[in-house]
Amino acid sequence: MNAFEYAAPRTLDEALAVLREHGDEARVIAGGTALVTMMRQRLVRPSYLVSLREIPGLDRIEAANGGVRIGALVTHREVETSPLVRERIPVLAETFHRVASVRIRHMATVGGALAHADPNQDPPVTLIALGARVEIRGAGGRRELPVELFFRDYYESSPEPGEVVIAVVVPQFPAASGAAYVKFLPRTAGSAAYKREMAAVMAGRALTQAWDAARASVRGTR
Ligand SMILES: Cc1cc2nc3c(=O)[nH]c(=O)nc-3n(C[C@H](O)[C@H](O)[C@H](O)COP(=O)(O)OP(=O)(O)OC[C@H]3O[C@@H](n4cnc5c(N)ncnc54)[C@H](O)[C@@H]3O)c2cc1C
Repeated sequence: MNAFEYAAPRTLDEALAVLREHGDEARVIAGGTALVTMMRQRLVRPSYLVSLREIPGLDRIEAANGGVRIGALVTHREVETSPLVRERIPVLAETFHRVASVRIRHMATVGGALAHADPNQDPPVTLIALGARVEIRGAGGRRELPVELFFRDYYESSPEPGEVVIAVVVPQFPAASGAAYVKFLPRTAGSAAYKREMAAVMAGRALTQAWDAARASVRGTR
């Protein structure tokens, strides 16, 4: 692993300033579960690591317009066990429960998972089906993107150097809907070399649309 400097700013503006100053040389570090592995493998060699841990407010799960707003530093385990998430959008808790082992879920963060853009990850599938949006902050202010537009390619996501993911907002779960998350593994989840063949989620939005389409087609045949 290369030598690096480490900064833990106490405000978002301070973090953005450090990231701006160091450009491509700097990386945000959240849980470190992906980044540290990539650094050990020398796939990336940042000379500056900027932790977001000291910035207040990024680790909160809040009620938002019937849905939930999940801060970038919230861990997978916190989403999985959150009473608010379980009450409002249980499929989200169910999906995060399926990620890796409990040790990884205690470290890995929602913002880190999204920014890392590993195509094998569980949460993006459910977040896309639920119509979630990602909040990003940079020097130019705040912008928001639907999760499906946030990913550019395998391991490539939208934040530019100097930008950070600050939250993901999941809208209210549609009434009269159900959802489930299904994960297929060719080997056991305990295997280090596992790979998911397919992940599927039927979220309320999809069910509602299917129901509307079915009703329309029944009306059409009468
Ligand atoms: C053993 C193991 C098993 C795993 N199994 C699964 C699994 O079953 N399902 C699954 O979905 N995932 C799995 N993962 C992937 C895991 O979910 C990711 O490693 C994790 O979500 C990354 O989050 P992190 O907070 O640790 O990010 P970090 O490692 O800290 O960062 C990852 C990347 O995101 C950037 N970043 C971090 N936070 C931000 C931010 N707020 N704004 C902008 N950029 C940011 C970093 O600069 C880095 O490039 C597994 C990982 C490991 C190590």
